[in-house]
Amino acid sequence: MNTNALPRLGHCPGCNDEIRVRVDGTLYQHPRYNVRCPGSRRPVGLLEPTFVRWLHANATRRDGYTNRVTGLAQMLFRGCTRSPNRAPADMSWTTAEELHAELHRQQVRLTGSENRSGYGGTERCDWVCRDVEQAGRTYAELLAAAAGRAA
Ligand SMILES: [Zn+2]
Ligand SMILES: [Zn+2]
Repeated sequence: MNTNALPRLGHCPGCNDEIRVRVDGTLYQHPRYNVRCPGSRRPVGLLEPTFVRWLHANATRRDGYTNRVTGLAQMLFRGCTRSPNRAPADMSWTTAEELHAELHRQQVRLTGSENRSGYGGTERCDWVCRDVEQAGRTYAELLAAAAGRAA
């Protein structure tokens, strides 16, 4: 599956946003306003490229209609067009397993049952669950490849 690489992110010292980090350790411009905050030209430490951060990085891809990982990222971080975009820090989950569990908690709140599929809700998991699992496997492969390069 074609996805974005693991993100290189750092905390902006000016506003605490998570911004992409250049090879020299300084921050890129903030994508939303095309500005730099005070202090963002100094090198920052890299944040761990967690599943939630990696998935968020895929929300900007243009293949959301054909790529299930992009589609999942856009559904989770964009929501409907009128709501502001959400960031990894807004999410209650970090890993694919936690996201999967959260999907079923939301389902309990909506319907009183964990089941998301089947007529009358007879099956626990639906296609969103399967997309989360696929994304989790793709992320794990990227992590393993990155660890292989570092070793
Ligand atoms: Zn900032
Ligand atoms: Zn499920």
